[in-house]
Amino acid sequence: MKTEKIGIVGSGLIGRAWSMLFTSAGYQVMLYDILPDQLSAALEYIDIELHRLEEHGLLRGHLTAEQQFKCLRTTSDLKELSRKAIFIQECIPERIEWKRSLYQQLDDILEEQTIVSSSTSTFMPSLFTEGLRHCHNMLVSHPLNPPYYIPLVEIVPAPWTSPQAVEFTRQLMLEIQQKPVTLKREVLGFATNRIQYAIINEIWHLVDKDILTVRDIDTVMNEGLGLRYAFLGPMETAHLNAEGIRDYIQRFGGEIHKVSETYDAIPKMEPGPTLDKIAEQCEEMVPRDMLAARRKERDAFLTKLSALKKEF
Ligand code: NAD
Repeated sequence: MKTEKIGIVGSGLIGRAWSMLFTSAGYQVMLYDILPDQLSAALEYIDIELHRLEEHGLLRGHLTAEQQFKCLRTTSDLKELSRKAIFIQECIPERIEWKRSLYQQLDDILEEQTIVSSSTSTFMPSLFTEGLRHCHNMLVSHPLNPPYYIPLVEIVPAPWTSPQAVEFTRQLMLEIQQKPVTLKREVLGFATNRIQYAIINEIWHLVDKDILTVRDIDTVMNEGLGLRYAFLGPMETAHLNAEGIRDYIQRFGGEIHKVSETYDAIPKMEPGPTLDKIAEQCEEMVPRDMLAARRKERDAFLTKLSALKKEF
């Protein structure tokens, strides 16, 4: 077990997952929330979850579930949370005015060594750290849901984040067995959502034009592209699909350009007949009252997949 303290602000879905990730490496984790009930619910959830994972041989790290749970404390006092913390992971809801107000409060009480990183999925760090005294120690580390099973973390610095804060965060993510990628500078959507949204834009058009059903599109991913992407990634795939990437582009670059020229304009995603069609087909695949059960299946599949990936 370690003596260093990590603070978690917000004990919802993502705050709970980060807590488990940091305790898995033996850090002393303190959870803070504005709602005391959320804190007790989080403790209860984490206790059950750690023991469930241990029972199934899926617990991360070398400590037992009980040892990991003992690394966890809660507080309703932000000052207590930040005292002597080496790192704070912020996990409050995606509301820019809430984030700004919290970072302002933190700025008044932060110690010099503490790095504060946001879990935000959509806000560039400059939006809520500009002008703060400790802005050089503030950045984003964006996880993917569920973070305990999907290791990617996007580290996104603001223009004023120090290289030391970025490197510290990267090393910390590696230590807790996550897989960080570091953006050289902030960009809207970071990397994952920029790529994901390009895919969703094209899917919107394919369904809108009745070329494919939602189920068939998902099959294209989960029985086709996704199988490769689970371990290769699109660029290594291309590199292997020819005699190297130069050969691939020489052979297929023209075709890629020709197809790309036929893409429609970026669709406006709003309520209307296309969304009705997509929603109807999604709900046929997974009825809304089955979403929770399907999420559980997803987590079980992801766990098996990550175990398999360790063999690669
Ligand atoms: P959530 O609603 O499950 O939890 C938010 C928690 O923050 C709640 O417990 C709430 O009481 C608490 N809270 C609200 N205001 C607070 C404040 N000022 N100080 C302390 N606690 C406060 O939200 P979530 O899904 O865990 O999302 C948290 C962050 O993680 C968001 O920025 C979100 O964009 C990001 N994120 C979410 C997902 C996802 O799939 N849910 C994935 C990646 C990143």
